[in-house]
Amino acid sequence: TTNTQKQRIVIIPSPGMGHLIPLVEFAKLLHSHHFLISILLPSSSPPTTAQTTFLATLPPAISHTFLPPVDPTLLPPTAFHSVIIYHIHLNSISSVRSALVSLSNVVAVVTDLFGTDYFDVARETGIAPYMYFTSNAFCLSFVSRLPKLDETVPFPFPYQCLEHPLVLPGCVPLNGKDFDQPTLDRQSEEYKLELYHSRRYNLAEGIFINTFFDLEPGALHGLKSDDVIRTSIYPIGPIIQSGSDDGDNVTLSWLDRKPPGSVLFVSFGSGGTLSFQQIKELAIGLEKSGLTFLWVVKAPDDESACGSFFGSQNQQHDYNCFDFLPKGYVERIKDRGLLVPFWAPQVNILAHESTGGFLTHCGWNSILESIVYGVPLIAWPLYAEQRMNAVMLNKGLKVALRTNDNERGFVGADEIARVVNVLMNGEEGEKARDRMKELSEAAKKATSEGGDSTKVISQVALKW
Ligand code: UDP
Repeated sequence: TTNTQKQRIVIIPSPGMGHLIPLVEFAKLLHSHHFLISILLPSSSPPTTAQTTFLATLPPAISHTFLPPVDPTLLPPTAFHSVIIYHIHLNSISSVRSALVSLSNVVAVVTDLFGTDYFDVARETGIAPYMYFTSNAFCLSFVSRLPKLDETVPFPFPYQCLEHPLVLPGCVPLNGKDFDQPTLDRQSEEYKLELYHSRRYNLAEGIFINTFFDLEPGALHGLKSDDVIRTSIYPIGPIIQSGSDDGDNVTLSWLDRKPPGSVLFVSFGSGGTLSFQQIKELAIGLEKSGLTFLWVVKAPDDESACGSFFGSQNQQHDYNCFDFLPKGYVERIKDRGLLVPFWAPQVNILAHESTGGFLTHCGWNSILESIVYGVPLIAWPLYAEQRMNAVMLNKGLKVALRTNDNERGFVGADEIARVVNVLMNGEEGEKARDRMKELSEAAKKATSEGGDSTKVISQVALKW
């Protein structure tokens, strides 16, 4: 077929690297099925270096367009990233509509869980809307039941005090304190938005989930066998970043000089930030552990656990001096600790044989990347659905250890030193590592020829 006959898929990721990366990787996969791809990028600020570097890896046949940036004065003054994203999308609807009208042969619009308002725009222009759920089946199961829970469970959510955890079909039991972050305050705007989007899920023609059958058989069965989600569900993962060779060579050559499996990788994703107090405890804990570590350090934020979500705050700081770390720290740990400011080539690090463990904030992309490369985890959830992910990893899949908070509500240095040593050298760590290796094999199988996820994608491609 020539380009004029080819079908086109329009992909609209929400702002934030945790949305951009999986949707762009999905775009690459669809491109390999001979679709034309147009990526539309809503935003309210100029792209970050991480974004532009990542988008530069796109093959020329996949086009991307930055939509006219939304005037920041139109955005509400709020700390909730989901609320800001919602307003960015609302103010980008007319640009999306014009783009859809001007593009030819569009058969599907794929957006993520915050972009449900584009479903209507797609329908208006005669195009089928799809959602790409950037988290797992467990989380989809929870969020899709939220409207029902909201109607039946009295205000405010009493799960914290309930004797029984919530058991979703085929899922690991979930205590109230581990519910996803917006639900912890039912008065909050982000909770109302989560409900709003959740009520719209069935307006999509289908929902892609970045998971695979052997990872979440129970949750996927559960989703398919009741009638909460009444549209098609397509588990197509794991789809992860391919990694790059033009990235940060200093970090990778540092890893090259370390023995296999000896390095603990520490990172809180694109958005995660720790308080001033917590970052100090982490620094001292890593030092006390006696282990070799590679830590992606972001400036502390006492207000928010996702202080660098839009990439702005930390990037504008030139904080190579790391002056928020304990005095003399950088000098003391320099022989066995590498501190990388703000952003590191995570996939290359996880793929590296020197990496033996990962202390992670439990963002779903980070988890899938760890699964693909068989790296066992310490779960340190911060925001969004990360607490749910931590429960699934620790209690369900048994591939992650947990830290305990002290009575003052943060994780102390001694506890950090203890847990990282168990992961890297203890029996429990060894078990988690073995389990991860099994999952890694299962992941490879799912995405190989004839694998579960490959078959699902082929079916959809055929339908389109
Ligand atoms: N990432 C990276 N380098 C960093 C931090 C993050 O490459 O220093 C990538 C990471 O590999 C993952 C994504 O950014 O693909 C973060 O997504 P995730 O869902 O783990 O967390 P989020 O940032 O959305 O909370």
